[in-house]
Amino acid sequence: MLDIIFNYQNEIMFGCGIVNLILAFFVVIMKLHSIRKKLAMLKMQLSVAVLTISVSLTIHYDGDPSQAAFWIVRITNFFTFTALLTSIMFTCEYSVAVFMESNKFAKLPKRLLLGFIIPSVGITMIVISQFTGIYYSFDAHNVYQRGPLFFVAFLFPFTTVILLLSFSIQYRKIITKNLLAALVLFYLLPMMAGITQLFVYGHPLIEFTCWMASVTLFWFALSDQNDELIRAANTDLRTGLVNTYGYIYEVEKIAQFKNITEYTAFYFDIVRMSSLNNKYGKRLGDEIIERYAEILLEFFDKDEVLGRLGGNYFVSLVKTSRAEEFLKLIGDCPVDFEYYNKKEVLHIRAIAGAYEVKKKNIPGGQVLSNTATALSYAKNVVHKPYVYLDDELAKKFEHTRIVEEQTRKGLELGEFVPFYQPKVDTGTNTMCGAEALARWRFKDKLVPPIEFIPVMERNTSICDLDFYILERVCLDIKDWLERGIEPVTVSVNFSRKNLGNPILAEAISKVVEKHGVPKKYIQIEVTETIDEFPMSYLIGVVEALQRYGLTVAIDDFGTGSSSIKLLKDVNFDVLKIDKSFVDYNSDKDRVLLSDIILMAKNREISVIAEGVEEAAQVESLKDMECYAIQGYIFDKPLEKKEFEERLMNKSYSI
Ligand code: C2E
Ligand code: MG
Ligand code: MG
Repeated sequence: MLDIIFNYQNEIMFGCGIVNLILAFFVVIMKLHSIRKKLAMLKMQLSVAVLTISVSLTIHYDGDPSQAAFWIVRITNFFTFTALLTSIMFTCEYSVAVFMESNKFAKLPKRLLLGFIIPSVGITMIVISQFTGIYYSFDAHNVYQRGPLFFVAFLFPFTTVILLLSFSIQYRKIITKNLLAALVLFYLLPMMAGITQLFVYGHPLIEFTCWMASVTLFWFALSDQNDELIRAANTDLRTGLVNTYGYIYEVEKIAQFKNITEYTAFYFDIVRMSSLNNKYGKRLGDEIIERYAEILLEFFDKDEVLGRLGGNYFVSLVKTSRAEEFLKLIGDCPVDFEYYNKKEVLHIRAIAGAYEVKKKNIPGGQVLSNTATALSYAKNVVHKPYVYLDDELAKKFEHTRIVEEQTRKGLELGEFVPFYQPKVDTGTNTMCGAEALARWRFKDKLVPPIEFIPVMERNTSICDLDFYILERVCLDIKDWLERGIEPVTVSVNFSRKNLGNPILAEAISKVVEKHGVPKKYIQIEVTETIDEFPMSYLIGVVEALQRYGLTVAIDDFGTGSSSIKLLKDVNFDVLKIDKSFVDYNSDKDRVLLSDIILMAKNREISVIAEGVEEAAQVESLKDMECYAIQGYIFDKPLEKKEFEERLMNKSYSI
């Protein structure tokens, strides 16, 4: 076997050179993301190709006395010696690209610089050797002979390789393990072969090991490039922590190799980051985030995860035994930074959603979404520093999700219907209006609004419901008119979520007109509670509705925080006093109620009291000159058929 290798050394070397040329071709056509690395790798592959092909030709023509061989062996030998140095030089260039990319070094480190200088001196010496024969010469038969200073030729690659080797090992943390292995191989293999070659004569050991190293480096650089791309896609650029994808990947890795049920996941949000940005400026704000990430990272063990999803949102996976400690840290994390050359310390507080992992094979995305749900609940619903998504809460969210889905379907299938609750004028004891209240016929049950309105208000489907009920009310009024039943003004509830709709009034008016219903039969009720939009929006909508000929009532008056301001700034037609106000139980409340009624009267706003259940309340309201009443004392919300009967006979008696 060895005999075959020795006999075909030149063919093998030639083949190796061809492989390098093919690899060089691949380097050219491949999309390597760093152009510096690409060029260095290309030059290195070409150098090794020159090295191996040259040595192959030298072996072939060694001892051939012909004139052609005379030149060939001299030229190829020169190339062999030179290419060995250039291939080391270009590997050094590749290392420079790798290490400098890490941003750790401001300028080229000395040892890497020597990686260019020493081989250059070595090449000069080879040129000198051509004329002096100090390294090698050829005898009269064209046979290669070592010169007196042959071993000096090896000193140049040796010292370069030792320098580069020591550098790569010292800064091994900057580069990937794969690349480190490839670089060490590149430097170590030819060096060992070189030492052997000083004593063994006649075999291209250095050349072969160089070739092996060049192929390995190519291969590792390629896989390293993939790793780097994956790493870049999984990394948050500002902090160097994992991002969403990276977090999911790391969580799943832990689920695969460790017992993930021993971990708790967190999704946390820095409180008032925007005011910090306003105070310190965006750039310093970013630096504070970086420093914050650094400080948090110190807390983390190797088998835990800390990530940043962008902005002030962070995620983590911490061993449950350390979860409490972690919550304490993010509850008050001192972050030091420099502000106008002065050291400042900021106490950063975060709100967290937590989830103690229960399932072994849980997908990373599920862990993330569970913590996100808990965070949203902590921030928007209970306003607590942290919330754990336990089974009970998870069930509640699941229920909400199902209701959300089913109400959407219910809207499509027309499962919602208006019920009508009469409003009675206690001066004449006749019906003076009605309110349309939505009911959901779901699986033979009649679902009350409390079970679906809050869910529908979480998204915009409440707006669809409001328009749907308006359509149904218009259809019913049209039906009564056609059948000669005199209707009353029906008020339809419109959630304040609708206030974001810039053509709300126009859209409402269009629906009423479409059905040919006189505008006097429709009133729009808007609650005063949800403070999502500024007052100016409400004023705009109320004025527009009135321009379209519709009246507007303010619902649940007295429950919001801006009641008096509303009364002062918005020109409503009707004020509906909330049940809680009607149920007053102190003289003070009674005076307040009476004052409100008086104030409305002075502003020529009609008043109606809702939720009236007792005769005494009716009397008391009458005393305060509030005659319009809506309440169980007269009627509950009624189905269309039943309400029709009331329309046909509008008088009431208590
Ligand atoms: P609301 O608009 O203030 O309607 C009055 C609520 O008080 C109705 O509850 C009615 O049944 C109830 N009520 C009336 N008189 C009495 C009484 O004497 N005693 C008691 N205890 N309750 C009385 P309902 O029908 O359950 O509706 C609850 C809320 O759901 C409504 O309050 C309204 O804000 C909302 N809602 C109902 N339908 C719709 C709709 O189509 N769109 C929107 N956006 N909201 C609606
Ligand atoms: Mg109402
Ligand atoms: Mg109300």
